[in-house]
Amino acid sequence: MTALLVTHLHSDHTLGYPDLIFTSWVMGRKKPLLAYGPAGLQRMTDHLIAAYAEDIRIRTEGLEHQTPGGYRVDVHEIRPGKVYDNEGVRVTAIPVLHGNWREAYGYPRRHARTVRSSFPATRGPATRWCRPPRASMC
Ligand SMILES: [Zn+2]
Repeated sequence: MTALLVTHLHSDHTLGYPDLIFTSWVMGRKKPLLAYGPAGLQRMTDHLIAAYAEDIRIRTEGLEHQTPGGYRVDVHEIRPGKVYDNEGVRVTAIPVLHGNWREAYGYPRRHARTVRSSFPATRGPATRWCRPPRASMC
């Protein structure tokens, strides 16, 4: 995995974020994970890395010899428009309405390469996007 696209910061969509950060490192990631998402993603990332500081210390200074800094994340707090363009994968962020979030994005799939998303893609303003029975289910 090279890059991560975050639509918004609801916990049910971000609880796996530390797993992506740290498991990919433990499994051999050496370069920073690229993460794109709304304002607040950098702060969330900083807090997660701080929360796992002892794990990082043990894994790099102990017997496991993990790559120092391999857990790093290069966070990009985005604005609407093109957010990613690399090796044939182009991603555009479209602002969507989602509860009371000031920023939420959809990432339409318009490219040939695989992009896995935890959200359904939207083709325009998110008037159709994420309308469960209760807003708390998004
Ligand atoms: Zn949500």
